[in-house]
Amino acid sequence: MEDRTPPPAEELPLTALHRVGPRLAERLARIGLESVQDLLFHLPLRYEDRTTRVQLGALRPGQAARVQGEVELAQVQFGRRRALLVRIGDGSGMLTLRFFHFSRQQQQGFQRGTPIECFGEARPGPSGLEMVHPEYRLGAFQDAPTSATLTPVYPVTEGVRQPTMRQLVAQALTLLDDGRLQLHEWLPAELRARYGLPSLRDAVQRIHAPPLEQAQQVTGHPLQRRLAFEELLAHQLSLRQLRERLQRYAAPPLDPPGELFDALRASLPFTLTAAQTRVIDEIHADLARPQPMLRLLQGDVGSGKTVVAAAAVLRAVEAGWQAAVVAPTELLAEQHARNFRHWLEPLGVNMAWLGGRGQRAARRATLDALADGSARIAVGTHALFQEAPAFGELGLVVIDEQHRFGVHQRLAMRDKGADGDRRPHQLIMTATPIPRTLAMAAYADLDLSVIDELPPGRKPVTTVALPARRRDEVVVRVRDACAEGRQAYWVCTLIEESEALEAEAAAATADGLAEALPELRIGLVHGRLKSDAKEAVMRAFKAGDIDLLVATTVIEVGVDVPNATLMIIDNAERLGLAQLHQLRGRVGRGAEQSFCVLLYREGLSRNAQRRLEVLRESQDGFAIARRDLEIRGPGEVLGTRQTGELQLRVADLLRDQPLLADVQQCAETLRQEHPESVAPLIARWLGARTRYGDV
Ligand code: ADP
Ligand code: MG
Repeated sequence: MEDRTPPPAEELPLTALHRVGPRLAERLARIGLESVQDLLFHLPLRYEDRTTRVQLGALRPGQAARVQGEVELAQVQFGRRRALLVRIGDGSGMLTLRFFHFSRQQQQGFQRGTPIECFGEARPGPSGLEMVHPEYRLGAFQDAPTSATLTPVYPVTEGVRQPTMRQLVAQALTLLDDGRLQLHEWLPAELRARYGLPSLRDAVQRIHAPPLEQAQQVTGHPLQRRLAFEELLAHQLSLRQLRERLQRYAAPPLDPPGELFDALRASLPFTLTAAQTRVIDEIHADLARPQPMLRLLQGDVGSGKTVVAAAAVLRAVEAGWQAAVVAPTELLAEQHARNFRHWLEPLGVNMAWLGGRGQRAARRATLDALADGSARIAVGTHALFQEAPAFGELGLVVIDEQHRFGVHQRLAMRDKGADGDRRPHQLIMTATPIPRTLAMAAYADLDLSVIDELPPGRKPVTTVALPARRRDEVVVRVRDACAEGRQAYWVCTLIEESEALEAEAAAATADGLAEALPELRIGLVHGRLKSDAKEAVMRAFKAGDIDLLVATTVIEVGVDVPNATLMIIDNAERLGLAQLHQLRGRVGRGAEQSFCVLLYREGLSRNAQRRLEVLRESQDGFAIARRDLEIRGPGEVLGTRQTGELQLRVADLLRDQPLLADVQQCAETLRQEHPESVAPLIARWLGARTRYGDV
C-alpha cells in the first residue's frame, strides 16, 4: 500500500464528505464553511442533554427532553393555521407533536402504532403538553441512551438542519480520529507546555461532543480554555499584523519648534494637568516619526482631551501640513469648531468648518479652501468627510469619541490623506474608558495614552436616583438652581431608536416644564432640528441666555457648559452605564457643586437597579467601565456588537481576561520564533472574514 499523508483539514473541501453536494456546499459557504477545518471550528452554541429518556407522564412544561412512544393518532387540523397534529403515548402519558410545515410523505410516516423517538421542548397546548416541530426518528428503539455525550446545537443557515450539521461534524471528527485527516497543531510543544495547554485535537473532539459528566463544566474546562487561548491568539496576531503593515507606510514627520502650541498654552485660562502634559509629549514624540501614528487617547469625561487634540493639530499646522478633526455628531463637531476657532484664530490659523446643511456655495468655498491649502484645519462630522474630496496635505486626523465609529470608517478617514505610500497620523480619542487588558486585546493595533487625572478643583457630582412619582420635587429643584443663576439639563430618553419619537417626547417634556416653570427660559434640542437651529440653542445655553435645556441624548458627548450644575435624566433605567456616565459628565465642569438626578419608573429590572447603583456610588469612568463590562459584556462596552468587530466564538473577553497577558506574550514569541504559524492561525480563526478590510 502506498504511504500517503492525510490531507490537512484546511485543504479538504466539504464536498469531500459524504452527502455534501454542490447545493449543500453552497449553503454552508453562506455561513463561512468551506473546508473541513472550517467545520471543525464551527463550534456549538450550546448543548442539550439527550442521554436519558423521559417518561411522557413525567414530562414537565418547559423541559427539553428526549421521549419515546407510539403514534396513536395523526391528523391535519384546519383553522387559523393549518397544522399536523401527532398524538403519541408510552403508557405513562401522552404528548402532541405539532407541525406547521410538513410534506405528504412526512404525514404518511405517522402510521398508528409506529414507534417514534423525539427531542424537543414540552409546552402547554390546548390539550396537554405539546412539542412544536421536534426533531424525531421513526422505528424501533432500544432503551439505551442514544449518545453518551451532550448533543451540540450549532449555528445553522436556511436549508441546513441541525441533524445535517451534526452528522457532518461527526464525519469530520471520525476522519480525524481515524487519522485520515490532519489538524495541524500550530502551537509548538514548548509553548503549549509553557501555558499549560492541552492538545488541539482533544480540545476539538471534546467541544463538539462533551461527555455527560462535563455538562456543567464545558466552559472553563482546560480543553475549552485551549481553544479560547488559540482564538484570542489569532486575533492578537491579526491586529499586530495590521499594525505592522501600517508601520510600513510613510508619514510626514511633524517636528516643528512648537511655537504655536506654546502661544496657545500661554493664552489658556488654566494650566495643563500633569496627565495632559504627559500625553501631549507622547503624541508629539509619535508625530515626529516618519511612520503614521495610530494612538488611542483615553480620558474620562471632562478630563480635557480637546486641548490635547489642539496640541496635536498645531503641531501639524506649524510643520506646514493640514489637520482634520472629526466628531461623531453635528453638535459635537460644532462645539469643536467653536473651540478651535476661538483658540486658533488669534494665532492666525485658518479653520474650515464642514457644516451639515450649509449653503451649497459656502460649502463649495470651504472645500476649495481645503483643496488649495488656504484652510489649514477642517472640523466636521464623519459624514461630511465622506463627501469631501481628498485633501493633499493632510498630515493628521483626529477622531473624537471613536467608540461611535467602526474601524472601517477610521480607515476611510485615513485614506482621505493617502498619497502614494504616505498616510496621515491618526489620533483617536475616547471617553469610554476600557480596562487596560481589554484595550490591549481589542486594540492591539493602537498605542495607548491615558489621561488619568481630572483638572483640579472638580467636585464629584452628587448623584441620586428617584422614582418618577417624585418628579415634582425635581421640578422644584430645577427652579431653585436656576434662581441661583445656575443652569440645568433635562434629558429625555426613549427606547425606540426613532429620532422622530424621541424629538416628540422631548418637545412634550419641554412644554410641560414651560408650564410648570414659567419664569425660566427653556430651550430644546434634539436630533431632528436643523443644524443652525441646534447651534443657535446651544450657543444661547452656553451664553447663559437659556436656563434649562431640554434635550435628547444628542447632548451625550462633549457638550461643555461649566455653569450647568444640574442634570436630570428621565427614564434613566433605559440607558447603559457608559451613556449615563457620559451624560452626567455634562455637569460638574465648574467649581460649583453639581447634582445629577436619575429619574426611573418603578419596577426596575435587576440589571437596571445595579446600573443606577453603580452610578450613584462611583464617579470614576474606569471603575464604571469595569462594572459595565460585568453587567453587559465586552461586545457592548467596546461598541463592537454593532460594528461586528472582534466577534469571538469560544473566547469570552470577560471570562478569559486572565488569559490575555499570556496570549500577548505568546503572540510575540510566535511572531519572532515561529513566524510560519502566524498566517495559518489567523486563517483558521478569522477565516475569510477580513477584520479591517484592505490595509
Ligand atoms: P473632554 O475630555 O470631556 O473632551 P474637554 O476637553 O471638553 O473634556 O474639557 C472639559 C473642560 O475642562 C473644558 O471646559 C476645558 O476648557 C477644561 N479644561 C481642560 N483642561 C483643563 C485644565 N488643565 N485645567 C482646568 N480646566 C481644564
Ligand atoms: Mg470631548
